[in-house]
Amino acid sequence: MEKINSQQAIELEDMYGAHNYHPLPVVLTKGEGVHVWDCEGKKYYDFLSAYSAVNQGHCHPKIVDAMVQQAKTLTLTSRAFYNDALGPYEKFITEFFAYDKVLPMNTGAEAVETAIKLCRKWAYEKKGIDENAAQIIVCENNFHGRTTTIVSFSNDPVANKNFGPYTPGFIRIPYDDVDALEEALQRPNVAGFLVEPIQGEAGVYVPSEGYLTKAKALCANKDVLFIADEVQTGVARTGKLLAIDHENVVADILILGKALSGGAYPVSAVLANNSVMDVIKPGQHGSTFGGNPIAAKVAVAALQVVAEEKLAENAERLGQLFRDEINKIIDRTDLVAAVRGKGLLNAILINDTEDGSTAWDICVALKENGLLAKPTHGNIIRFAPPLVMTEEQLLECVGIIEQTLIAQEVKV
Ligand code: PMP
Repeated sequence: MEKINSQQAIELEDMYGAHNYHPLPVVLTKGEGVHVWDCEGKKYYDFLSAYSAVNQGHCHPKIVDAMVQQAKTLTLTSRAFYNDALGPYEKFITEFFAYDKVLPMNTGAEAVETAIKLCRKWAYEKKGIDENAAQIIVCENNFHGRTTTIVSFSNDPVANKNFGPYTPGFIRIPYDDVDALEEALQRPNVAGFLVEPIQGEAGVYVPSEGYLTKAKALCANKDVLFIADEVQTGVARTGKLLAIDHENVVADILILGKALSGGAYPVSAVLANNSVMDVIKPGQHGSTFGGNPIAAKVAVAALQVVAEEKLAENAERLGQLFRDEINKIIDRTDLVAAVRGKGLLNAILINDTEDGSTAWDICVALKENGLLAKPTHGNIIRFAPPLVMTEEQLLECVGIIEQTLIAQEVKV
């Protein structure tokens, strides 16, 4: 296909693609490390990292090499046969995260679905709940993906309106509310508690310190599975390998996706110990692409990069610096109400008009100034750069953000 310019690319998407996204008007054609380039050659800092999938930086050479090498050798066999990449990957990832077993899938939503199925089956076969009666506790403002079951327990009307009838079997309680969890756990037939250690899509809501520890203890006390959705927060994003590691919590079921492949390929995984994972028998769950040789090789390389390049440590250090610097900006402008986050998963709250147009305008202005970020829920702007960023680059980005906010304040 011949090369097209940005305007042409936008027109094509508009004309031929479903309008299920509302992107910023920037068309990307190349990425390397913390940078991406548009069709006209303008270079940007990427502060979204494909919703935290590109933690290892764009086109990390080790991950790309692993992918290309495997792509030339064997791409897909289905799980009807064994392949020689899957076993070594399964050994690697289970040792990496300290679980007995892994169930490989592709997207985050599929992994969440897998965790739900696993939890329900465990409830009937191990916990002794009557068939079809199991309940899973979830949190308000959750985001776990887009399948019909997952949107069934969302309270975001944008995500679930007119997609019913909804899947039953979920109890929704406020996030970061131990008392609400304790009360919900009194109900009969509770099998699991599905939670994001930080609510990313909702706008980077960090729960109170100790919430996850208490939640895990309450669940353990009631023989209820603590299911951590670390699709966005996992793989070093928040300054530890997992966000639950900040509180030394161990999940009964751990859900990973996104950065498990460094953004090179859709790779997700559900990890659990034998007592839970053993309930799944041949034919009861699967995916044509889950555990394919490319995914296996890519995931091993992506996790090796995380360890070798000490990405969690870098995220922790730079995240602290970022919040300190943004707080200094907050002292100088009325446009920003607060900054919050952990590691390099952060958000700023804009003092906005009701329709969120200020946050959108700021993101457009940031784009003009060479930094890409996207508003979420109107007045929240998430800042999540690749974790391979250097301190010097981060400070340059803080400068861009400051300059943009000051200029924007003059306009509003
Ligand atoms: N869980 C969480 C916590 C997420 O943030 C996301 C995606 N933003 C998902 C699940 C769904 O992942 P995917 O888009 O790969 O299905």
